[in-house]
Amino acid sequence: MAQYDFDLFTIGAGSGGVRASRMSAFFGAKVAVAEELYLGGTCVNVGCIPKKLLVYASHYGDDFADAAGFGWSAERPRFDWAKLIANKNKEIHRLNGIYGKILGDAGVKIIEGHAEVVDPHTVKVAGKEFTARYILVAVGSWPLVPKIPGAEYAITSNEAFYLTSLPERVIIVGGGYIGVEFAGIFHGLGARTTQLYRGPLFLRGFDNDIRSTLAEEMVKRGVDLRFKTDIKKIVKANGTLVATLTDGSVLEAEQILYATGRGSKTPDLGLEKAGVKLKYNGAVIVDDYSKSSVDSIYAIGDCTDRMMLTPVAIAEGMAVAKTLFNDKPTRPSYENVPTAIFSIPNCGTVGLTEQQARQQNHKVDIYRTAFRPLRHRLTGRDERTMMKLVVDRTTDRVLGCHMVGPESGEIVQGLAVALNCGATKAQFDATIGIHPTAAEEFVTMRTKLPPRDLD
Ligand SMILES: Cc1cc2nc3c(=O)[nH]c(=O)nc-3n(C[C@H](O)[C@H](O)[C@H](O)COP(=O)(O)OP(=O)(O)OC[C@H]3O[C@@H](n4cnc5c(N)ncnc54)[C@H](O)[C@@H]3O)c2cc1C
Repeated sequence: MAQYDFDLFTIGAGSGGVRASRMSAFFGAKVAVAEELYLGGTCVNVGCIPKKLLVYASHYGDDFADAAGFGWSAERPRFDWAKLIANKNKEIHRLNGIYGKILGDAGVKIIEGHAEVVDPHTVKVAGKEFTARYILVAVGSWPLVPKIPGAEYAITSNEAFYLTSLPERVIIVGGGYIGVEFAGIFHGLGARTTQLYRGPLFLRGFDNDIRSTLAEEMVKRGVDLRFKTDIKKIVKANGTLVATLTDGSVLEAEQILYATGRGSKTPDLGLEKAGVKLKYNGAVIVDDYSKSSVDSIYAIGDCTDRMMLTPVAIAEGMAVAKTLFNDKPTRPSYENVPTAIFSIPNCGTVGLTEQQARQQNHKVDIYRTAFRPLRHRLTGRDERTMMKLVVDRTTDRVLGCHMVGPESGEIVQGLAVALNCGATKAQFDATIGIHPTAAEEFVTMRTKLPPRDLD
């Protein structure tokens, strides 16, 4: 008789948990996964996928307007929020089914309900206990809303995906990528949009040229961006939300969306009782192989607060499956992780920012270009694309690529391969461009910016 019910018990069927579970089963393990809300987790249900669908929707306003420059004319099109949300929900439902099928086909047992760790080898779901040789915590994260008076009137990204109507006016609080993306979505769909951030410039941690270029572009488009301010209190009057800001101004809106960070979904999980050490913010502390302070308990994805991105959670899940059930101890790599911000316009980035490169004592050369995309020569739209390379002057290696402009994410994905191969600026220069594209600028930038003060 086997000593345990399962070789692996995964808590959370999100991006990381699904990959770890099905690959462990593929390597021969007997696996169960508990899920309390929705198969596919945040990414599929209230994250990347529905977000990207809404971003697609928000671009059409511009596309209809821009079409005039190319000779098209039509009556002003109407937008139907309810239809968009219904269609989005249908697609999410389809994806939930696919995730169920993927797990089922792999032989993973799906257990519905809230799971709790009882001890290093036992998990309880809906009053029933299961034993496992290993437990994998893949519970993800949840939006955090500061405790200000009236915070109960605000929504988070979770609710934004299910609003019954498009707000006429919306305030977005927070300067991370989720806030910026929702500002683009709501503004693009026609809501009067204000975005607040308490710091001097949003998107902390991204390259400064991305941050300032995107801010300029958003302001040009009509988003009311306000930095160095925050909401002090919210009251509701006659169905309208009235926000008093720290700078004394007062704003009214139908919806206020907080995108002010996410916390690990580790409360009520019994982890500390089982001996698992957590960080001050509730994130599970893990080693390079995603093992917690308890030998039989591993943790991956958002709940470990390493890099809150779907492909990273998936890579961590894959590494755990190989480590535990394929005799290949595997450490995920966090180097040159590319990422996009699906703002309008998009941003794409990989490698070191100029600021990080300097902090790491690289002597850097900076190549940067800003131009009006060809398409907008006819549309008349005042939008500029920015591209930037951060190059190590000593080794000639390209350390970072940064872009603001249409399809940045699509373009930077390919550059991430080049950076992982250690590409030099000379190799970028030797690469023939695809003409006419914006992407070709990445291989045709020849003029260095004059050395900056910091050098
Ligand atoms: C609005 C938004 C947009 C995003 N956009 C992008 C993007 O464009 N690109 C990108 O790479 N990333 C994006 N992300 C981040 C991405 O969604 C997460 O990094 C990713 O989903 C993390 O995967 P995970 O497996 O750690 O957790 P999750 O996908 O959150 O899965 C965790 C699962 O565990 C379940 N669970 C939690 N506790 C329990 C319990 N006790 N018992 C049973 N089940 C439990 C949850 O219900 C959930 O299904 C976005 C996130 C948000 C919120």
